[in-house]
Amino acid sequence: TYIVTDNCIACKYTDCVEVCPVDCFYEGENMLVIHPDECIDCGVCEPECPADAIRPDTEPDMDKWVEMNRKYAELW
Ligand code: SF4
Repeated sequence: TYIVTDNCIACKYTDCVEVCPVDCFYEGENMLVIHPDECIDCGVCEPECPADAIRPDTEPDMDKWVEMNRKYAELW
């Protein structure tokens, strides 16, 4: 699963949203989020992000970002 992190804050690019084959990006408070259960882990969005904000959840210390992405994605 890929997750959006704080580098996304105030980013105006939405290239990631356009390439996602399962439309699992949602709007959070001041950044985009990925629904962790809907992401199919394809990885195509990651190189599209100019802010390097999209990270795999297997990186260290990602738990709080996973929860934050889930929280805002589930509001929709
Ligand atoms: Fe969408 Fe693939 Fe990115 Fe997951 S890894 S958010 S499925 S584009």
